[in-house]
Amino acid sequence: MILGCIADDFTGATDLANNLVRAGMRTVQTIGVPEGDAAAAALAGVDAVVVALKSRTAPADEAVAQSLAACRWLRAGGARQIYFKVCSTFDSTPRGNIGPVAEALMGALSQDPPAGTAPGFAIVTPAFPENGRTVYKGHLFVGDVLLSDSPMRHHPLTPMTDANLVRVTQAQLAHSRCGLIEHRTVARGAQAVRERIAALRAEGAAYAVADAVGDADLHVLAQASQDLALVVAGSGLAIGIPALHGLAPSAQAALLPAATGERAVVSGSCSAATNAQVAAFIAHPEGGPDRAFAIDPLRLAAGEDLTAQALAWARPRLDARPVLVYATAAPEAVKAVQAQLGAERAGALVEQALARVAAGLVEAGVGQLLVAGGETSGACVQALGVRTLRIGPQIDPGVPWCHATPPARPTGLHLALKSGNFGGVDFFTRAFGTLG
Ligand code: ADP
Repeated sequence: MILGCIADDFTGATDLANNLVRAGMRTVQTIGVPEGDAAAAALAGVDAVVVALKSRTAPADEAVAQSLAACRWLRAGGARQIYFKVCSTFDSTPRGNIGPVAEALMGALSQDPPAGTAPGFAIVTPAFPENGRTVYKGHLFVGDVLLSDSPMRHHPLTPMTDANLVRVTQAQLAHSRCGLIEHRTVARGAQAVRERIAALRAEGAAYAVADAVGDADLHVLAQASQDLALVVAGSGLAIGIPALHGLAPSAQAALLPAATGERAVVSGSCSAATNAQVAAFIAHPEGGPDRAFAIDPLRLAAGEDLTAQALAWARPRLDARPVLVYATAAPEAVKAVQAQLGAERAGALVEQALARVAAGLVEAGVGQLLVAGGETSGACVQALGVRTLRIGPQIDPGVPWCHATPPARPTGLHLALKSGNFGGVDFFTRAFGTLG
C-alpha cells in the first residue's frame, strides 16, 4: 500500500477513492477499521486504502481515537503517507475535529515516521477546483462566493462563518502554529513550495494552508508534499498523488470482477436530482411503472410491513431489467409526512425499511444494486454487512461502481452509492449499462 487515507465521513471517503482510482490507483474503501478476514482482504493488491469513519461531528476525543486506530492499522498495512480527508467546505466546529485529529495524527507519525518521510509538518488544503472549491490567500471559495457567504454558513451541525482557513485551522490547533503557502509560491512550482515549507518550519509552524485555484496547483502541492508523512486535504489533492508513484489513469485500476445477478435500485433520497431520476425510470422502456414500488412513510408508521410487500412484489420481477423500490418524494409530500411524524422519525422509518429491502433483494439474487441517498446508503451498507468496497469505474462524477462480498452474497455484489444530488437524469437505467 502506498497511500493510507482516513476520511471523516462515508460519502467523502467514496469521493476520495473515486479520485484515486481515476488517477490510476487500485483502491479499497473500508467501513471503519476492518478486522479479521476483512482486514486482510482489504489490503490485497491495492495501492491505496480509504478508511471511512463517521468522525466529522463526533466529540473530538472520539474522532481522535477513531482516527488514531485507523492510522495504526494503515501503517501496519504498509502505508507510506497518511492522507487525512476532510470536507471540501472544511466542515468543522471551532472545537474541531480537523485540528485535534490532525495534531493527534502528526504526533503518532512523528513518534514512528514512515521510512523516507519527514514528520512534523503537514499541508492543509480542501481545494477541489473541478467541484468549484478553490483556496486563494488562505480563503476558501465555494463557486464564486466565500465559504462564509455560501449556504454552508447555515449548516445545522457545522456552520462555516469564516472563510479564512488559516484562522479556522489555527483556532482548532492546541499546540501548533498554522501558516500559509500563497498562490504566488505554488505557481512557481514544487521546489518553491518546499522552500516555503522549510521557512515555515524554521518559524515554528507545523501546518500550512496551501492555496490552489486549478488542477495544476494540486499537482504541484502533491509533489511538494510527497515526502511529508501527513497531508490534510479534501479529495482534490488526490488527483496529483498517483502520478508521483509512476501510476497513470488506466482501466486496470478500476477493474472489478464481472457483474452477476439481477438488477435493482433502492432510493431514499428526496433531492431534486433523485426525484427526476425516479420519474425518468418510470418513463423509461427499461424501467416502467410496473417495475417501480413506492414506500409510503405514513403506512410504515401505521405498522404495515411494506418491506415484505415490496420484496414479494419484486421477487417475480427480478431479471436483467432493474426494479426500483423508492420512498423518494417531492418536497411538499416530504414536508407533509414530516409534519405528521417528525423529520427524524420519518427518516429513520424509511431508512430501516429500505435497508431491509436492500438486504432482502440481495438474498433474492440481486447482484447489481444501486442505492440513492447518503444516509440511505449508510443504512443499506450496514444492513448488508458490507465492510470493504473495491472502487471501480465512475458512472457519473462522484459515483463509482463498487464491489463487495457481503455475507448474503459471497460471490460478489456490485454496488453504486449515489449521494442525493449526483447523477444524470437517466442514471437509474444507464448505470447498469456501464457494467456491461
Ligand atoms: P440525500 O443524499 O438526498 O440527502 P439521504 O438518504 O441522505 O438522501 O436522506 C434522505 C432522508 O429522507 C433519509 O433519512 C430518508 O429516510 C428520508 N426520506 C426518504 N423518503 C422520505 C419521505 N417520503 N418522507 C420523509 N422522509 C423521507
